[in-house]
Amino acid sequence: RQQNPGQAEFIQAVSEFIDSIWSFLKANSHYAENSLLERLVEPERIMIFRVSWLDDAGNVQVNRGYRVQHNSAIGPYKGGIRFHPSVNLAILKFLAFEQTLKNSLTTLPIGGGKGGSDFDPKGKSDREIMRFCQSFITELYRHIGSNTDVPAGDIGVGAREVGYMAGMYKKLTNQADCVFTGKGMSFGGSLVRPEATGYGVVYFAKYMLAEQNKTLDGLRVAVSGSGNVAQYAIEKAMSLGAKVITASDSSGVVIDEDGFTPEKLALLQQIKNVEYGRISDYAERIGADFKANQRPWHVAVDVALPCATQNELDEEDAKTLIRNNVICIAEGANMPCTLAAVSLFEDNHILYAPGKASNAGGVATSGLEMSQNAMRLSWTQEEVDQRLQEIMCGIHRACAQYGRRDNGSISYVDGANIAGFVKVANAMLAQGVT
Ligand code: NDP
Repeated sequence: RQQNPGQAEFIQAVSEFIDSIWSFLKANSHYAENSLLERLVEPERIMIFRVSWLDDAGNVQVNRGYRVQHNSAIGPYKGGIRFHPSVNLAILKFLAFEQTLKNSLTTLPIGGGKGGSDFDPKGKSDREIMRFCQSFITELYRHIGSNTDVPAGDIGVGAREVGYMAGMYKKLTNQADCVFTGKGMSFGGSLVRPEATGYGVVYFAKYMLAEQNKTLDGLRVAVSGSGNVAQYAIEKAMSLGAKVITASDSSGVVIDEDGFTPEKLALLQQIKNVEYGRISDYAERIGADFKANQRPWHVAVDVALPCATQNELDEEDAKTLIRNNVICIAEGANMPCTLAAVSLFEDNHILYAPGKASNAGGVATSGLEMSQNAMRLSWTQEEVDQRLQEIMCGIHRACAQYGRRDNGSISYVDGANIAGFVKVANAMLAQGVT
């Protein structure tokens, strides 16, 4: 805490991790040697830089850019770039730390990193977005590379922004690999990468429910967010027979008791991805209930999939969900549930998956994109989806192996933290004190 003043989100993520692996460390004391934990929580390198760019009126705007290269023990740093006004060092350090454990869980050889800027893409023209992305990468390009650090998208960074950054990277380096994952299909992208995080969350929920001999068929589901992760979580949940009642954005929540249909999802995608509109526009166009400045958690559902942002589901929300007999929570976003909410879910033995396990499908498919790029070939939709399902199933198995309680139930928090930690820790121990 003293070394990281004011970094609440980073301290939150590290505290949850240390509490969770403490008994394991006591039983396996060699992992406490050589200040391994102290080294693991300290990022290997952080870059902070100025991003200046010209707006459409000809004014010079200035934002701050970051890249946190957290841990490379098992492979090149890998993690998304976030453009959102809330971005600061504390948030990127928490995300890079979580990413290290998540990437380890995928079993692929990728380390952990995260980056971004406090730039707000909302309301900016396409040209402004391009100029910002080009300026951002003009500094970042010297710190990344396919064997060093491979960025991807995150909040506010989708295929368009990845395209602009990858294009500028190629121009500056004369390297055709474009380094980013989440690229467009015409220049090295992978099928299923856009869908992978949302699909993966729902696959993970399916495996959790199967532990209790349940399926998603007929269950009521609340989704928060309406961006990349939320959209494909809605699609996959629907295709497995669930009724998805909610979606949201930072302005409020839409509650649709009739449930999403493929046609309604297509409209949401048109409004969010093409028109860059608000969830209230969607509510109006389908004639559903819109509640301004509210979140979905007061709606009675069986399954909750928080897919928007960190700390969007607090203790009171958890109490309401539990009162309404929720049976499963799988995080699509990173750290959407507060520590108090997580404790309530775990104490009540409700199936709860932390993002580092349930949202790992995105980075796993980014890993598959890297493999396809290295081999200079493209796998089919079915092949990538099959590998994604196998990876999510493997993560579930690892959580069960390390998180099984004496009564037979699974703590996915402990399971994900310990399984993610063991691989990174073994690699760090083998590589000596570096
Ligand atoms: P998008 O930018 O596509 O969508 C983000 C959604 O969350 C939007 O609906 C946005 O609403 C909402 N949101 C963002 N910030 C806030 C806020 N402060 N309060 C309320 N709502 C907010 O991002 P993604 O879908 O890619 O990412 C969502 C989450 O999933 C993030 O936590 C991200 O780190 C995580 N994640 C994403 C992966 C990926 O592959 N994309 C992989 C693994 C995790 P609005 O439009 O109003 O801002």
